Amino acid sequence: MLTSICGINWGDEGKGRMVDLLSENYDIVCRYQGGNNAGHTVINERGRFILNLLPSGILREGVVCVMGPGMVIDLKHLSGEIKALRSAGISVSPENLKISDKAIITMPYNVLQDIMEEDRLEKATGKPYGSTRRGIAPVYADKYMKKAFRTGELKNPERLYRRLPDIVEWKNMTIKAYGFEPLKAEEVKEYFETYGREIAEYVTDTGAFLNDAHKSGKNIMFEAQLGALRDIDYGIVPYTSSSSTIAAYAPIGAGVPNLKLTNSIGIMKAYSSCVGEGPFTCEYFGEKAEKLRAAGGEYGAATGRPRRVGPFDVVASRYGIRCQGADEIALTKLDVLDGYEEIEICTRYLLDGKEIDEFPFTDVLDDCKPVFEKVKGWNKDISKCRKKEELPKEALDYIRLLEKLCDCRIKYVSVGAEREAYIKMY
Ligand code: GDP
Ligand code: MG
Repeated sequence: MLTSICGINWGDEGKGRMVDLLSENYDIVCRYQGGNNAGHTVINERGRFILNLLPSGILREGVVCVMGPGMVIDLKHLSGEIKALRSAGISVSPENLKISDKAIITMPYNVLQDIMEEDRLEKATGKPYGSTRRGIAPVYADKYMKKAFRTGELKNPERLYRRLPDIVEWKNMTIKAYGFEPLKAEEVKEYFETYGREIAEYVTDTGAFLNDAHKSGKNIMFEAQLGALRDIDYGIVPYTSSSSTIAAYAPIGAGVPNLKLTNSIGIMKAYSSCVGEGPFTCEYFGEKAEKLRAAGGEYGAATGRPRRVGPFDVVASRYGIRCQGADEIALTKLDVLDGYEEIEICTRYLLDGKEIDEFPFTDVLDDCKPVFEKVKGWNKDISKCRKKEELPKEALDYIRLLEKLCDCRIKYVSVGAEREAYIKMY
């Protein structure tokens, strides 16, 4: 089995918790894109964890985790994340963590660039991108400029250091243009000296490892960070991440472009949330927003920022399902809607006096208004339900309605953040 677990919406759908749950039946979990801008919260019998770089499978004994060539890795952050897990009693070693030699290294100057540019945008336009300021866009830019460092280079530091002065000189042209002090190659070298050797231990040819594993019948899961609407090509550019968050990219970003996915499981939230800037047509404001945000605990795992919230968005979710080629859906956080007599759903957008149901081009989204419809809520606690027969009729109706409106099959429904708080629908 080669399964991808991807986000259908704007991110924070609960991918981490679903990977933690479903990885029971998998031998390997790979992250295939993004960096430490991810925040996956996982709660299980071993504790409560927030993972930024490490695949969520790291919390299961016996599962091997892979960080693929599609990722950008901040060495300092990874070192800290590994230490934090170890102190919580989770073992992390080259036995259960393998980092692709082709993965890209996020540099401290990429973080600086991200901050400089967000601040410039804020001043110049009042409209920053809402970046997590962790250097992700600049490091992906460096990758495509062919100026980035790759983790495989950590194995041969002398060679890497020879390449360093020219890269620093090139980077300083940008930094000076923002009015900041230029960097010294020696300072940049320190980053590699401090963290390079430690991280190099995990670096290997993960493509060969995954192909061997696949041949010997092992099950492989690909874990996405962020949702379809944050994809660099298909999302709400420029309010997206800088990587491909979609399932079709998983084999490429994980290091096995020769292998085909068996299935794609889309993680879809029972309502909507969105961190940062950009069009969010179904957005709630005022009291309505506060009630939903409080019920869902919608504050970013990576940044602590209050997330924007709204009701379930059919237009955006249908598009997300299509982008992800999702065969099955896990509907998450249904319990968050427990306290509602009536639940709203955004079924269409209103554009120039006409109702549309195809997700439009980003610029057009600015002119779209949501069309809300109401359905009956269940208005009772479903967090203890573990079988579909235990769900109130209205909750079941809500699930069936989303299946119909989005033309998808909902296989799992989560009703709490803990690993076991879920219902298998079929
Ligand atoms: P990810 O980035 O897609 O992995 O999602 P996040 O971890 O950033 O955000 C999901 C949040 O919802 C986390 O705080 C989870 O602990 C929490 N969560 C996940 N599933 C459920 C659920 O079914 N019910 C509730 N109430 N919380 C959940
Ligand atoms: Mg998250």
